[in-house]
Amino acid sequence: LRPTAEYQAIDAAHHWHPQTDMAEVNARGSRVFAGADGIWLTDTEGERLIDGMSGLWCVNVGYGRERIAEAMYQQAKVLPYYNTFFQCTHPPAAEFAQAIAEVAPEGFSKVFFANSGSEANDTVFRLARVYWDVMGRPRKKTFIARKNGYHGSSVASASLGGMSFMHAQSGLPIAGVHHIGQPYWFGEAEPGESPADFGLRRARELASAIDRIGAENVCAFVAEPIQGAGGVIIPPETYWPEISRICAEREILLVADEVICGFGRTGRWFGSETFGIKPDLMPIAKGMTSGYVPMGGVLVHDRVAGPVIERAGEFAHGYTYSGHPVACAAGLANLAILREEGLVDRVREDIGPYLQERWLKLGEHPLVGEARMVGLIGALELVRDKERRTRFAEEGRTGTEARELSLANGLVMRATRDTLLIAPPLCLTHEEADMIAERAARTLDDLADAKAR
Ligand code: PLP
Repeated sequence: LRPTAEYQAIDAAHHWHPQTDMAEVNARGSRVFAGADGIWLTDTEGERLIDGMSGLWCVNVGYGRERIAEAMYQQAKVLPYYNTFFQCTHPPAAEFAQAIAEVAPEGFSKVFFANSGSEANDTVFRLARVYWDVMGRPRKKTFIARKNGYHGSSVASASLGGMSFMHAQSGLPIAGVHHIGQPYWFGEAEPGESPADFGLRRARELASAIDRIGAENVCAFVAEPIQGAGGVIIPPETYWPEISRICAEREILLVADEVICGFGRTGRWFGSETFGIKPDLMPIAKGMTSGYVPMGGVLVHDRVAGPVIERAGEFAHGYTYSGHPVACAAGLANLAILREEGLVDRVREDIGPYLQERWLKLGEHPLVGEARMVGLIGALELVRDKERRTRFAEEGRTGTEARELSLANGLVMRATRDTLLIAPPLCLTHEEADMIAERAARTLDDLADAKAR
């Protein structure tokens, strides 16, 4: 390895980072990561940090899995690439599609492969419209999604997303996408409104929006089971059943974006199972390969796949690397690890409850307005005044400050506005869960000290 400063210099000169203020990169230099094992990251200075975010919510089986590396290497030697267009396939694509269908909820027997969560959602955008075309209802073209949702960075997926700062930069959303409110009880409920009432109220915004636009014009509702990038927003229990009822009643496709929640994050294979959602389409990515290689896709329920395959003939959509053999080989090894080590059950029955208990205790800290966690995905809402739930001035500054303090304590967390987020690899040990809770607690104390100064 070269000295850290050399990497920082060439990086700042030539590498334009995604979702990053390059002025900061130029001023401070980036942290350079050189290796990882289990839940631990190592930087070029030799410092070891706990990765409390599984990279970007993706390294579900943890780092350093020789089995995945070996599977990729062997596949690259045998058949590094071939396409899956024009009636071609190869063993890893066929086997990986089968393996995913085996762990998917009943009725999801088809996978359409893409290379990222963004492409997965672009695929949803096109496929849902094709579905209504073949059902003889071509006017059903409008999508409804949620404010502060995240579905990717391509034009269609960023339009489905409800990130206003992304929309503002390039004139999004595109026509045909509407957004309704999010089920963010802590941040948006009326004073005295219970989570149950708030959940119902937010769900019924969907009914109002459909009725306003006309059900005959609405194609699908798209939402994450738990909003991840928006701040790990865990909906009240009343929310998803009411959403499901509304979609069924008004004949609207229900799309559960499982890019973060899929592959064990919430203690079931899919977040839809944790929340009792019965989706028609499930975009997937991230934990699909635990991030060892880029991959995405859409799990399609038979009630959608059947008519489209039968009546549309060709779905005129696909990517050069759809079902890439090396990615499928990585995905197969990743699924084998999740299954053989029972990692998904472990999140639900063992390590999830263990970390939750410690994490929810952090809610007693004077600077925490709410601590929440489902499976191994959680958040801490930072507040100035706990009783009144008053936020700090200049939204986002305290979150960033806390994230930096956490890094100094050897724990990578992410901050969305003034909310700290956590989603560690599913393989973490009890001792490591203790360390996460201790380091997060220390970070809160450090933040309190900094505020008192
Ligand atoms: N959908 C959700 C719920 C996500 O969290 C993300 C990424 O964070 C995406 C889609 C987009 O995935 P990608 O960055 O792989 O395009």
